[in-house]
Amino acid sequence: MSPTMTTTELKPTILVVEDEVGIARMIQVLLEARGFSTVVCHAGDEAIRRIADTAVDLVLLDVMMPGMDGYEVCRRLKADEQWRHIPVIMLTAKDTTRDLVRGLETGADDYITKPFNTEELIARIQVFLRIRGMSLELVRRNRELHSLNAVALAVSGSLRPEAILDGALAGITDSLGLAAALIHLVEPATGCLELRAWRGLGQSSREALRSLAPGSGWAWDALERDEPVVVPDAAQVPGLEVGAGGPPQPLGVIPLRFQDRRLGVFSVLGQRGQQFSREDAGLLASVGRQVSIALENSHLYTETRRKALEFEALYQVSRAMASTLDLQNILTQISETVSSLLQAQAMTLMLLAPDGRTLSTVAGYNLFDDAPARAAAATRGASPSLVAVREKRPVRVSDLRTDETYGTWLTTARERGFTSFLAVPLVLQDRALGCMNLYTIDRHEFSPDEIQLLSTFASQAAVSIENARLFEATRQLAITDPLTGLANHRQFYDQLDREFRRAQRYGRPLTLLMLDLDRFKAFNDRHGHLAGDQALRETAEVLRQNARSVDILARYGGEEFAIILPETDIQRGAAHAERIRSAVAAHVFLNQETGLEHRVTVSIGVAALSPTLRKIEELVHGADQALYRAKAAGRNRFELAATEEDGAAPA
Ligand code: GH3
Ligand code: MG
Ligand code: MG
Repeated sequence: MSPTMTTTELKPTILVVEDEVGIARMIQVLLEARGFSTVVCHAGDEAIRRIADTAVDLVLLDVMMPGMDGYEVCRRLKADEQWRHIPVIMLTAKDTTRDLVRGLETGADDYITKPFNTEELIARIQVFLRIRGMSLELVRRNRELHSLNAVALAVSGSLRPEAILDGALAGITDSLGLAAALIHLVEPATGCLELRAWRGLGQSSREALRSLAPGSGWAWDALERDEPVVVPDAAQVPGLEVGAGGPPQPLGVIPLRFQDRRLGVFSVLGQRGQQFSREDAGLLASVGRQVSIALENSHLYTETRRKALEFEALYQVSRAMASTLDLQNILTQISETVSSLLQAQAMTLMLLAPDGRTLSTVAGYNLFDDAPARAAAATRGASPSLVAVREKRPVRVSDLRTDETYGTWLTTARERGFTSFLAVPLVLQDRALGCMNLYTIDRHEFSPDEIQLLSTFASQAAVSIENARLFEATRQLAITDPLTGLANHRQFYDQLDREFRRAQRYGRPLTLLMLDLDRFKAFNDRHGHLAGDQALRETAEVLRQNARSVDILARYGGEEFAIILPETDIQRGAAHAERIRSAVAAHVFLNQETGLEHRVTVSIGVAALSPTLRKIEELVHGADQALYRAKAAGRNRFELAATEEDGAAPA
C-alpha cells in the first residue's frame, strides 16, 4: 500500500510427522540447517491438531505410524478446504508400486522412500514450496479480481454517486472481510470532507465523522500527502469508537483523486488482529481508482445534463422573449428563467435610467427594498450593481457578512439573511442597459460556469429588452401627436373605446370633454401660423397641468382637443370643464418672435355616460353638440350635453 505498510517475510514452516524420534530429529536438524522452520510431531492425530493452530507451508508425512496412519492424515488434510492447498510429501520405507499409488490416491503430492537422499528431499521440498507460493498468489489474485470485478460492476452500473459509493463499499467489505468501510467526499461549498457512504459504522461514529474540516487528522493527512496511510491501531482515531484492548484494528485510508482534483478519501477498518497485506493494499488502491473514475463520470454526466437543461431553458426563453415585444412581460420572463437556472433565493432586475446614473428595480422575485441601505451609502461610492453596469463585468460578493468593499450598500440584504451576492450586467454590444442581482441565503461561491451561463443569458435578455424599448418608442410615435405630445385621433378612439366598455361593464361614471379654440383662424391670421402652433402646444400644456394621472388627453383635430375623464360623473365633469376653461383663458402666450403677449379661449362640450347611452358615437356626438351650443352661446364657456331626461337641450 505504501511505505507505511509492511509485511514480514517469514521462513517457510514445515510440519514433520514421524513417529520415530531419531528420524524426526534428524530431519528437523537437516531442514533447519537449510533455513526452514520446523514443527515436529510424532502421531497422526497430533499432526491434525498442530496444523489447525500453526501456519504450515508443507507437510512431511510418515506413512506407518501407530494410531492414525499417514494415509488417514493426508485424506483429512485434503478433504478440508482450508488445508487442501498445503503440499504433502509422504515419507515411507515401502517402495512397492501399490503403496505409492495408494499414497497418491489419498491426495499426497509426492512420495519419497526411506532412506532418502538429502539433496533430493530438499530439492523436492523447494519445488513444492514454489508451487505453493504460486498457487497462493493465484488464489489472492483471483480473490482480488473477483472483488475488483464486483466493485467495477457496482460502480459502473450507476451514474448516481450514492449507488457508486455503496457498491464500492459493499464489494470491498465483503472481499476483505472488513469491520467497517466509509467514504468521505470533499464538498466544494464548505471545503470539508463530508461522510457520504458507510458500512458497519455505528450511529455515534457517523455523527462524529460526518464532517471533517481541513487539517483535522488522518483523513486529511492521507488526502494532503496524496498517498495511502495506515493507522496500525484505530483505537487512536477519534470518532471511530474502536475499543482499546485485544489485538488492534488497523485503519487504512486511501485518497480518492481524479487527475489533480482531490475527490475525497476512502477508509477501511480491519477486524481485530487483521493485517493489511501488500496485496490488500493493491486491491484497495485499485478500488480507490475505480471509485474516483466512476465519481468523475457521474460528475461529468450530471454537469452535461445540467448544461443541456440550462441550454434548453435558455433556448426556450430566448424564443419566448423574442416572440413578445412587451417589456414587462420580458422582464418577468427573465426573472423566472434566472430563478429556474440558479438556486438564488432572491433576484432583482435593474434598468439604467436614461441619465446613465441611476438604476431602478423593474422586476424580480422575493423583492426587498434596499432604499435604506442606499440612502446610508449615498456618500460611500457606487453600489455593486452600478459597478457591474459601469465596468460591464460581473461583481461577486461571496460573503456579505465580511465584505468591506461595498460598505453599507448591501446592508438590507445582509439583514434579510442573505449571504452571497452576484450582479451580472445586461450588456448590449458595448452598452450596459442594467443588471441582474442574485442573492443566496447559504454561502454560495458562484462558479465561473454559472457566471458564464448568466452572462450569456444576460446578453440575450439585453437584446430583448432593447427590442421591446425600440418597439415601444415606435408605437408611441404612431399614437402620439407630434406637435403637442398628446394622444392622436386614433389613439383617442382606442382609449375611449377601452374606457367606455370598462365604465359600462362595471357601471362606473365616465365623462368626455370636447374642446375647440375660439376664433383660432383669426389668431393665425393675425399672429402667423408659427405663433398658432406655439399656442396649440401651450394649450396642451395647460390641459396637462389640470389633469389627473388617469385622465386621457388627446388632440382630436386641428385646434380641437378631447379629454376622457374616467370615474367622473357629469357634475364633476362640468367642474373640470370650468377649471380648464378658466385656466386657458388666464394663460398668457408670449410670442417668441415679436415679444407680444396673446390670449386664447376655449369652448367646451361636456357629455357623460348614462344608462340609456349605448354607443361611443352617441357620447362623442353629445359632446360635439354641446360644444356647438357653447360656440353659439358666445364662446369661452362650456355646455352640458342633453340627456334623455332633459327631453330637450338646456338653454
Ligand atoms: P370657432 O371659434 O368657431 O371655432 O372659430 P375658428 O376660427 O377656430 O374656426 P375654424 O374651424 O373655422 O378654424 C380653425 C382654424 O384653426 C383653421 C386653422 O387656421 C387653425 N388651425 C387648425 N389646425 C392648425 C394647426 O395645426 N396650426 C395652426 N397654426 N393653426 C391651425
Ligand atoms: Mg375647429
Ligand atoms: Mg375653433
